[in-house]
Amino acid sequence: MRLIRSRRDTRSAVLGYLWCSGGSFRPDLAQGVALTEASISRIIGDLKAEGVIEETRRTAPYRGGPSQFVTLSNQIRVAAIEISNNSLYSAVGTLAGETLYSERYDLPDGLGAADVAATMTRAVCDLAGWAKQRGIALEQLAVSIPGYDPDLRTSPIVAVNVARLDDLLQRELPETPARLTNSMVARAVGHRLEMGTGVLGGSYFFVFVGHGVGAAIVDELAESGDVETCEIGHVVIDPGGAVCRCGHAGCLETYVSTVALANILAVQESELINRGDRWPHDYRISAPARAEIRARLGRLGLAIGNALNLNRQRNVVIAGWPGSLPAEDRANVLEAIGQSRLGGLQGIALTFSPASLGREPVSGLALAAFSFIRRSGERRAQGRHLISS
Ligand SMILES: [Zn+2]
Repeated sequence: MRLIRSRRDTRSAVLGYLWCSGGSFRPDLAQGVALTEASISRIIGDLKAEGVIEETRRTAPYRGGPSQFVTLSNQIRVAAIEISNNSLYSAVGTLAGETLYSERYDLPDGLGAADVAATMTRAVCDLAGWAKQRGIALEQLAVSIPGYDPDLRTSPIVAVNVARLDDLLQRELPETPARLTNSMVARAVGHRLEMGTGVLGGSYFFVFVGHGVGAAIVDELAESGDVETCEIGHVVIDPGGAVCRCGHAGCLETYVSTVALANILAVQESELINRGDRWPHDYRISAPARAEIRARLGRLGLAIGNALNLNRQRNVVIAGWPGSLPAEDRANVLEAIGQSRLGGLQGIALTFSPASLGREPVSGLALAAFSFIRRSGERRAQGRHLISS
């Protein structure tokens, strides 16, 4: 049995399991977080008293009749700002991912810092105003920004000034804990939530191929929950190649993003994204276009194989547009990984995941719920007061 160190970690593990499973009977929960039923019952009692989880009686699928079924409370509100696909999305939702409020603002690639700041201010003020009008306490905000790096004042992909954003959040949402991350963290967390519990175990290399291209090393969320991003999309593969939105030339992203795919198919990128998983069926793909797509998948595979040379992960999950292609096209990715990874494909398990394109702000809200859970579900002071009174 695994030993979980602190009470805070145990609370996070219990909440993380409930989040990934969508709710659980007490014995399954105890097993899922490797604790005895007796030892989690105090944690459950605390979390219930704080209004973070709820318990109802349901008929268990095994002998013993009705039992206590534990879920996350649907009374807790979290908020997200997600920048993706030339847009800024803002949203308020429940821990289970139900969206209560959602707005989209245009934020085209290459927009200057002043215009980005104006759009961000409008989005945050609209969101804060919506919550205030309804007396809703936002327990967590998650902001996901392409190319975000805590060591940089401004992301090289989207000109969000972090210090300015911090001031804005202090002013408009002073009591809501905020977490700023790279977009790839939101993608990885959103994808992990869709997989449910006990799927891979251990850590895995997650690659997202959409308007942006990136990767992350994801540890099991119910365990440490670490997500460490890798800028695989901005690996330069040809310095003489096309100019990338990061300012360099010939990045992998310029070959395999949905912008590149839309060019090959001679369609609008926004339309391609809106088609989600259906794009290979909806468009007639000519033989030269199919050959070009396969060549691009080969470039993606080479980059992934090289990334695996730097970080020895065995499980690889690719989400985004390649997942909708037939197996014979996707095989190019695997083959190319074998060509660049030391040791070839031995021991590698590659999974393709559905497109998950055009579903914003689903990932942003998942990240907000995850951030609240990683803080072990501590309510805002005001929230605690309301619960106890
Ligand atoms: Zn780039």
